[in-house]
Amino acid sequence: MNEPVDPKRMIKIFDTTLRDGEQSPGASMNLFEKLEIAQSLADLGVDIIEAGFPIASPGDFEAVREVGKIIRGPTICGLARCNDADIDRAWEALKHAETPRIHVFLATSAIHRQFKLKMDKDQIIQRAVEGVRRAVAYCDDVEFSPEDAARTEPDFLCQVVEAAIQAGASTVNIPDTVGYATPAHMGGVIQTLVDRVPNIDQAVISVHCHNDLGLAVANSLAAVENGAGQVECTINGIGERAGNCSLEEIVMALRVRADYFHADTRIVSQRLVPTSRQVANITGIQVQRNKAIVGRNAFAHEAGIHQDGMLKEARTYEIMRPQDVGLAQTDLVLGKHSGRAALGDRARQLGYRLTAEQLHEVFDNFKQLADRKKEIYDSDIAALIEEIIRVVSDQWIFGSYSIQTESGKTPQVRLTVKHGEDEQTTQMSCGDGPVDAIFLAIEQLTGHKVRCVDFGVHSVSVGKDAQGEVNVEIEHEGRRYVGRGVSTDSLEAAAKAFLNAVNRIEAARQG
Ligand SMILES: [Zn+2]
Repeated sequence: MNEPVDPKRMIKIFDTTLRDGEQSPGASMNLFEKLEIAQSLADLGVDIIEAGFPIASPGDFEAVREVGKIIRGPTICGLARCNDADIDRAWEALKHAETPRIHVFLATSAIHRQFKLKMDKDQIIQRAVEGVRRAVAYCDDVEFSPEDAARTEPDFLCQVVEAAIQAGASTVNIPDTVGYATPAHMGGVIQTLVDRVPNIDQAVISVHCHNDLGLAVANSLAAVENGAGQVECTINGIGERAGNCSLEEIVMALRVRADYFHADTRIVSQRLVPTSRQVANITGIQVQRNKAIVGRNAFAHEAGIHQDGMLKEARTYEIMRPQDVGLAQTDLVLGKHSGRAALGDRARQLGYRLTAEQLHEVFDNFKQLADRKKEIYDSDIAALIEEIIRVVSDQWIFGSYSIQTESGKTPQVRLTVKHGEDEQTTQMSCGDGPVDAIFLAIEQLTGHKVRCVDFGVHSVSVGKDAQGEVNVEIEHEGRRYVGRGVSTDSLEAAAKAFLNAVNRIEAARQG
């Protein structure tokens, strides 16, 4: 753009953690988990929540419908391909939302036209117009995405975008579906649209960048610089393949460099770390330690010369303060004598909206934990809550185990699990070690043959009595599932994690 940018320009944050983010291998979430995340996104201040792709599955449909019914504040969006059945289904899911948006997409690049759609340019434009018109007949707020826009010929992209706006699209989203763009390239695509599409001022330009080359955030910033008014992103940058533009990074880049971008978002940045933790815990996709903004090391200064500078004046080495992104200096909060009200209060601050019944259950477990562990941290509380939220739909629940094991000998394991009202026990001699023995016993009890592809243990908080968190990833009939379990006993945590993954297999089967 040649003219100076409005200094108060607000960039809309379109969060697609529940749609594109859920497409991360192993990240499927149940309805309760999606509602928890949707509430956190609303508290975080996102403008739009893309809650799912209603025609893709009954589970997606239900998620979009329930998020639309329950969550207040953000616009709730559902995805649809550019055909009648998809658009009708999306509206069916969205019609109870306070402010609904239908998001229609159709591929426009030569490679997609020729091989996937087998349609020529005129047919693509006609289909796009018909789709947008159908959506507009239901809903004022319609977004259109030319899929693979970053690889679409500029002239044709301009034609499609103009036609979609003419047909009533109020947002035109430019996806770099395959993560192929670079910042100057993406900025140029947006600039071309601004310069050459005559009705571009009647719509908000959006971008949706994938991170295959590690450039999703940089490409999105370049788009904003050139006139984009909406960024599509996910918490922790999760999503298809290498993921999407990371919400926390784009938000803080715009805020920290307001001097340069002259733009901001409505995000309550103090909610970034709690939301990031919640999404990591629910999806089982942990954040790397050195991840910008929300990684464990993001504010850790190790070098002596840096520490010296920090003590004299924090701004010598710090471009933002940890408390600005919601990283508490110390999160030691509760102990044995803390009451239910204090726990409920803390849960709300962590971003959870528990029912009285759920709070009751969390409080019971909290008391048990307080007997085993002196100091209870935020992360312990989050772990307790997520166990409760998850249990609602769980078929298999951990009961108890005992194990005898010795170096060089096969372990003897006895394991009890609950399945509905039933209690089932197996006793066997198996495995290379105690964890393997527990996994084999669970396979036998649940009847699911799986392959364990990843297993990790780390501590939830600090201290010798800290809770251990086990994350597993298993493969079953070609699909991957993650599972998570928490306990002060790491073998119990392993059993819970494995059962959690098995429960996800069963949930996926039911739809
Ligand atoms: Zn995507």
